[in-house]
Amino acid sequence: MTQQQLAELMFPHIRQTPADIEAQFPPRQLPEEARVVRVAPSPTGYLHLGVFYTAMVNRLTADASKGIFYFRLEDTDKKREVEGGAADILTGMSRFGLKIDEGFVAADTVVGDYGPYQQSCRVDIYQTYVKDLVAQGLAYPCFCTAEARAQAREVQQAQKVRTGYYGEFAVCRQLTADQAAAKIQAGVPYTVRLRSPGNEQNRIKYSDVVKGTIEMPENDEDIVLLKSDGVPTYHFAHAIDDHLMHTTHVIRSDEWISSVPKHLQLFRILGFKAPKYAHLSPIMVEDNGNKRKLSKRKDPQAAMHYYAEQGYPADSVLEYLMTVANSDFEDWRRCNPTAPRSAFPFNLKKMSVSGALFDLQKLNDVSKNVIAGMTAEQVADAVIGWATEYAPDFAAKLTADKDFAVGLFAIDRGGNKPRKDMAKWNEAPDYAAYFFDDTFTGMGELPENITAEDAKAILTAYRSVYQPTEDKTAWFETVRNLCEPLGFSPDVKAYKKDPTGWKGHVGDVSTVIRLAITGRRNTPDLCSIMYLLGNDRVDKRLTEALNSL
Ligand code: GLU
Repeated sequence: MTQQQLAELMFPHIRQTPADIEAQFPPRQLPEEARVVRVAPSPTGYLHLGVFYTAMVNRLTADASKGIFYFRLEDTDKKREVEGGAADILTGMSRFGLKIDEGFVAADTVVGDYGPYQQSCRVDIYQTYVKDLVAQGLAYPCFCTAEARAQAREVQQAQKVRTGYYGEFAVCRQLTADQAAAKIQAGVPYTVRLRSPGNEQNRIKYSDVVKGTIEMPENDEDIVLLKSDGVPTYHFAHAIDDHLMHTTHVIRSDEWISSVPKHLQLFRILGFKAPKYAHLSPIMVEDNGNKRKLSKRKDPQAAMHYYAEQGYPADSVLEYLMTVANSDFEDWRRCNPTAPRSAFPFNLKKMSVSGALFDLQKLNDVSKNVIAGMTAEQVADAVIGWATEYAPDFAAKLTADKDFAVGLFAIDRGGNKPRKDMAKWNEAPDYAAYFFDDTFTGMGELPENITAEDAKAILTAYRSVYQPTEDKTAWFETVRNLCEPLGFSPDVKAYKKDPTGWKGHVGDVSTVIRLAITGRRNTPDLCSIMYLLGNDRVDKRLTEALNSL
C-alpha cells in the first residue's frame, strides 16, 4: 500500500486538496504595514482579564497599523467547553468596549471572508491538510492508547530521559502503510501524528516582538495533529488557521512560548510563511510581598464579570489596562488629558517582559478620573444601566425622576476641580442615599465641639432665613451672617489664629446644617444639594433634625 492509498483510507470523505482551500483564502488586500491580528479564545470558562488584556493588545496593534483584528473561536476541546462560554466572552468584549472587525463580532454575528471563524466548523479543512501530509509520508496514524503512553512515560522517567513521543519512543512511526491500514480496517482508534524531521541537538532561534531573541532546541516530537475524533490539536489548528486567515502577528499569552519550535516546524513543513510572534507576560498580583500570576481561583478580579458587577465603566478598565500594557501611557495621558486612546503611540516593544503588576487601587484612581470627566447625563445613564442589572430598586428610583437623577450627579461636576469621589457604579447607591427620603438616615452625629443646644440654635436660626438659591456665594453669606449672634466666628482664619471667646467657626455652623440635611459631614456642595432637594424637603429635614435634638 502506498502512502497515498493510506491517506485515502483514512480520509475517504475528503475530496478537496490544499490547493482548493488556498484558493478560498486569497491574500488580503491590505497595505503592507497593516497587521492582521486576532484573539482566539477557547470557550472553556468565562471571560478572563488575561484574555481581555490580550485582546486589547491585539486591538491596539491593529489600530496602530490600520490593520484588522478578528475573533476566532477555538472550540475543539468539547470536554472542557462551558455552556454559554463563547457568548460570555463576546458579550464581555463588547461591554468593555473592544471592537472586533471580523469573525465573531458579537455572540450572534459573524462577518468576514476568511471563515468559518469557529474551529469545530473547520474540521474538513484541517483534515484536507492532514490527508496531504499522510500522502507525502509527513504524518502517520498512531494507535497508542492512553495507557500505553502512560507506561512509556514511566519508562522514560525511570531511564531519566525526556518524556514524549520522539525517536525510538515514537513506536507507530515504524509501522508500514500496510500495518497501519490493517489496524484502521480492524477499527482500532487512532490519532494522526507529525513525522517530525527535527533533532533535539539543533537549536532554533526566533525573534519575539515582546521578548526579544529566543533560542530553543528544535522540535523532535511527533506531535498529535488530529485527535482520535478527527479534531485538530491547538498546534495544528493554529498553523492552518493563522495561515489561511493571513494573520501577520500572533499575539498571545506566553504560556505558548515553549511550543514555538513545534509551531515553526509545522509552518515550515506545511510550506507556510510563519507569522511574527509576540508573547505577552501574564498580569501579576502581589500576594504577601511576592509576585504571582493573577489566578482564576484566588482573585475575583481575574474575571471580567467582577468589573461589570462592581460597575467600572468600560473606559476605566481600558484606560487602566493601557497603563499596564505600556508604562509610558500615564505620562502621555497627563499631557493629553482628553485625547482618544487611539492617539497613543502604542508599541508591542514597550511591553513588560517580566509581567506587569495589577493594582486595584490604581484602577480605582484611574476610574475616578474617568468618571470625573463624564457629564451628569452620562453618569446617570451609566448608573441606571448598571443598577438595572445589579440594584434594580435603585434603578427604579433614578428612572422615576431622571431629571432629579441627573441633577444629583451634576453637583460639583465639571469645572477646574471636579470631585473625584466615585470609582465605580456600585458606590452610587450610597453616594446618592440622602437624596431619597427612604434612604436618608436623619440627623447625623454632632462633632464633639458642638452641643445639642448650639445645634438647635443654629438650625432654628437657619430655618428662619433659608431661601432656596443656586447662588453659592449668597448662600454662604447667609450662613456667615448667622454666626456671630450664635457665638461662632464668621471667619475661619481669624478663629484659627485666636479662638478665644468663640464656640467654633462658620465651618462648624455649616456642618450642623449639612448633618441635618444629609446626615453626613462630607458631601458635595450643600447649597446645590438643598436646591435640588427643594424647599419642602429641606424644611422637613430641618424640622425633623430639630425634633431629634
Ligand atoms: N485558544 C488558545 C488559548 O485560549 C489561543 C492561543 C492563541 O492566541 O493562539 O490559549
